Amino acid sequence: MSVASYQLCVYLLVTYNSQLTTRKEMKFATKAIHAGQHPDPTTGAVMTPIYQTSTYWQKSPGDHQGYEYSRGTNPTRKALEDCIASLENAQFGLAFSSGMAATDTVLKLLRPGDEVITGNDLYGGSYRIFTKVFENYGIKFHFIDLNNPENIKQYLSDKTKLIWIETPTNPTMQIIDIAAVGAIAKNAGVLYVVDNTFASPYLQNPIDLGADIVMHSVTKYIAGHSDVVMGALVTNNEDLYKQLFFYYNACGGTPGPQDSFLALRGIKTLHLRMKAHCENGRQVATYLKSHPRIEKIYWPGFEDHPNHAIARKQMRDFGGMISIVLKNASLEDTFKVASSFQVFTLAESLGGVESLINHPATMTHGSIPKEVREKVGVVDNLIRISVGVEDIEDLLKDLEQALNS
Ligand SMILES: *Cc1c(COP(=O)(O)O)cnc(C)c1O
Repeated sequence: MSVASYQLCVYLLVTYNSQLTTRKEMKFATKAIHAGQHPDPTTGAVMTPIYQTSTYWQKSPGDHQGYEYSRGTNPTRKALEDCIASLENAQFGLAFSSGMAATDTVLKLLRPGDEVITGNDLYGGSYRIFTKVFENYGIKFHFIDLNNPENIKQYLSDKTKLIWIETPTNPTMQIIDIAAVGAIAKNAGVLYVVDNTFASPYLQNPIDLGADIVMHSVTKYIAGHSDVVMGALVTNNEDLYKQLFFYYNACGGTPGPQDSFLALRGIKTLHLRMKAHCENGRQVATYLKSHPRIEKIYWPGFEDHPNHAIARKQMRDFGGMISIVLKNASLEDTFKVASSFQVFTLAESLGGVESLINHPATMTHGSIPKEVREKVGVVDNLIRISVGVEDIEDLLKDLEQALNS
């Protein structure tokens, strides 16, 4: 092929793809595979290359191709950011070196004296950064029951600057009404952030329901293969994006190109994985519900879940996260069950292709004081399950043998 016809091909591919990626009506799977990604203009490489570079050539000072230094911008990371933003129906995305770095960046929008209203059942690391880091900078956090969003009103004052929610909550699978909290936040003129890690953009899109910012631990469902730690923020508000970008670049919690590439590769199958997580989740939950060794089960797909109607309204399916409370089990008995799985792996984290078992009281939620966590049901005999995408027969067999151990 001549150089000219090769260049024409690349040109056509690039224009075709940028038309594709800007089309609003694109559906989820198409966006997961294409959004933010164009064949590489110099080689035509279909997969976005790993741009392993810290810096970029400038023709004369300030005359560059949009990239100056990789703490601020990197093409591999940019492709991932645009893809995640697109899946959340938002315009702007920022990727971080962890979910906690993303959370840290949002909290830096606050000033001493500001107050935050948040839920009483939170990811342990979020609770820790709120109480052990940002309280030291004069910010006050109210941890409240958000099952009834009206509860927020009694904590609102002119000091309230942020409402931060997580839904489904971790680990007791409370479902918080995203739109109802959004209406209260909007009315009060307060910034509203939703941690959408547990649902993933496949199951719900908080921006469409009134959130100003969506936060993700990309480590979990989005990347999906337990091989990378990363976070993200997305927003539709350009001014807010600029403020967040300032802290992202100024403080530097940004990920490298290799990790960005891995997450970008993972995201292409998010829709396929989520379908399988939901289907296996449904079967595992149904099996466990009538199991004699189980006292209580938390999964939003059950009609007797207290907020099932809200889950039905705001989620496309119910996901693969399930928590169980073992009947008459001491901490020792619970450890014994947690340690006797053969297919499920006892480990922190969730959302990967492999099924995981976690003991929140001593693992993910170990940083929350016992009396605080027990109030919301994170008891010593609670086990959290992240149902993976293995064959369901093997998962059920493994549960049966472990519960009978
Ligand atoms: C894991 C997790 C985080 C933190 O993300 P990292 O990538 O581990 O830093 C925040 N929120 C939720 C709900 C999580 O599960």
